[in-house]
Amino acid sequence: MANRATQRLTDTPADIVQAAEILRAGGLVAFPTETVYGLGANARDTDAVRAIYAAKGRPAKNPLIVHVADLDGARRVAVFDDCAEALAQAFWPGPLTLVLPLRPEAGIAAEVTAGQASVALRMPAHPVAQAILRASGLALAAPSANPSGAVSPTTAAHVLEGLSGRIDAVVDGGACPVGVESTIVGLLDAPVLLRPGGLPSEAVEACLGVPLARPGADPALPLAPGQLASHYAPRAALRLNAGRARAGEVLLGFGPVTGAAANLSPAGDLAEAAANLFACLRALDATGAAAIAVSPIPETGLGLAINDRLRRAAAPRG
Ligand code: AMP
Ligand code: MG
Repeated sequence: MANRATQRLTDTPADIVQAAEILRAGGLVAFPTETVYGLGANARDTDAVRAIYAAKGRPAKNPLIVHVADLDGARRVAVFDDCAEALAQAFWPGPLTLVLPLRPEAGIAAEVTAGQASVALRMPAHPVAQAILRASGLALAAPSANPSGAVSPTTAAHVLEGLSGRIDAVVDGGACPVGVESTIVGLLDAPVLLRPGGLPSEAVEACLGVPLARPGADPALPLAPGQLASHYAPRAALRLNAGRARAGEVLLGFGPVTGAAANLSPAGDLAEAAANLFACLRALDATGAAAIAVSPIPETGLGLAINDRLRRAAAPRG
């Protein structure tokens, strides 16, 4: 990818207009959402979408989530059944992505969906993401704004650490409040949890009135594309469910533990832990420690997403 000087924009109205102009001209702009920073491009511009894959070094088979400002924009891209309507009404805007049948006439670049007949859609709640979507008038394909496989960015500084010189601009809107990526629910057949994320899966199940199928648990269900075993990986090795740090390790704590180099939430609050997760992994990686030991984290609510990211961060690197 050609070297580009990366502009630092703020969330002032003039800078939002500039971000929208860059996007309309086919450029790449990173911007804050409530989950993590996204790397946006016009989802209907094939060259712009290809540039996302090039900037991130992302495998072409890993499809992108399309971000829209409102339900009308969403209905132009995908077909909504009763389940999709119910979930969108209950949780949008917010950290929930729905995988739905793609409308072929919507003009979404084939690279966005990796050539599939389905599309992943989300309406973000973050005011800066909303402002950019509205100012541009575009549907934006936007994966996390980091080199493929690395720890996701929750600040503009994280974005620049990984992608400076490879993207046109980053809009600085402060730290992302949720801190982990969206929950992905597939609605092509029986509802399936494709990725745990920033909306607790229990809330989705309560809205639908049925449990979500889990692709990993049922061999008959296809795995979501792009859910690679190794992802979100810091340089340091990770050891999960650790009571304390061993020689050469630093401890990433959760709850009232002693001897932690950093603590996701001393009070044991899962929302606070999710918001701190990626920044803590980056900070402990930067200490140069050979390994990061992580306290046990409960497998409920946002704990599902936190443990999913930690397991992928701990997995053998491809
Ligand atoms: P990221 O943008 O890095 O948060 O990752 C987006 C994820 O969304 C991908 O890794 C896929 O798992 C999922 N995804 C995107 N589009 C589709 C689709 N059409 N069908 C199933 N999963 C999808
Ligand atoms: Mg990502």
